[in-house]
Amino acid sequence: MKHLHNVDICNSSRQWCLDDFKVGIHIGSGRFGTVYRAQEKKTGAVVALKIVNKQELQKAKVVRFLKREIEIQSRLSHPNVLRMYGYFDDKDSVCMVLEHAPGRTLYDLIQTSPIPENTVTKYMTQIVSALRYIHGLKVIHRDIKPENVLIGEGNVLKMADFGWAVHDRRPRRRTFCGTLDYLPPEMIEDKYHDEKVDIWALGIMCYELLVGIPPFGDVENYVETYHRIIQIKFSFPNHISMNAQQFVKRILRHDPRQRPTLEVLENHPWLQQSREQQ
Ligand code: ATP
Ligand code: MG
Repeated sequence: MKHLHNVDICNSSRQWCLDDFKVGIHIGSGRFGTVYRAQEKKTGAVVALKIVNKQELQKAKVVRFLKREIEIQSRLSHPNVLRMYGYFDDKDSVCMVLEHAPGRTLYDLIQTSPIPENTVTKYMTQIVSALRYIHGLKVIHRDIKPENVLIGEGNVLKMADFGWAVHDRRPRRRTFCGTLDYLPPEMIEDKYHDEKVDIWALGIMCYELLVGIPPFGDVENYVETYHRIIQIKFSFPNHISMNAQQFVKRILRHDPRQRPTLEVLENHPWLQQSREQQ
């Protein structure tokens, strides 16, 4: 498939409008965005168009988040981060021109069954690499979860949806952002948070991919879920290997400072062992 970054028209100064695209099927929806497959008429390159209604953004008072999403994501370029080629807007909506990921999301994947360990290690290696890249640029994603990881061509993962992302490392306070199951203790306790929230979410996601459900989940009772998160109360089914369990346990620490760096995770025996087997 032809991607825009392989075609020589990808420069941010280019002004697009909806007429430049042949809009195809609907491929996904989120809180604010509706995503379509589309083809750039001039080059034939396939892209995804994420269209967001301005009035809805204003009503929810999240205009600044969309601005940030565009500012941040359009500057990122890494094999495991979904590219944003540009954006345009009209009276009613903002449209982001994104790299198209033909596979589904990691969320779709775990609906049928958990993912085999040797695949999860490959996925974790890619997410760790994407996080090292964005954290290196002082970007925190803050909404790492299976729905926001797309599967691109050749099973290459693409970190997507920078709607909650922030740039800079100033410690921040925010009572709630993201999904309950993925909330780190410091957000529940309304303390300052930093890039370690992404490391926490990586641990939760790793567990969910391996087991099929998140570690602290209790759909019936949110208060119980909060308690379990704060007390780090979770267990693994027996069939999960010791190395995999240790990887997740190493991450899920109440104190953000005790969570490992991405470099330590990259060299963790579980991921290292899988690289050696390739
Ligand atoms: P959220 O509710 O998570 O904030 P959102 O409105 O910001 O969502 P996204 O998460 O970016 O929207 O996209 C919604 C869904 O659309 C994704 O979960 C995915 O299924 C699909 N999708 C988004 N971007 C792409 C893409 N580039 N290629 C293929 N599918 C995509
Ligand atoms: Mg999303």
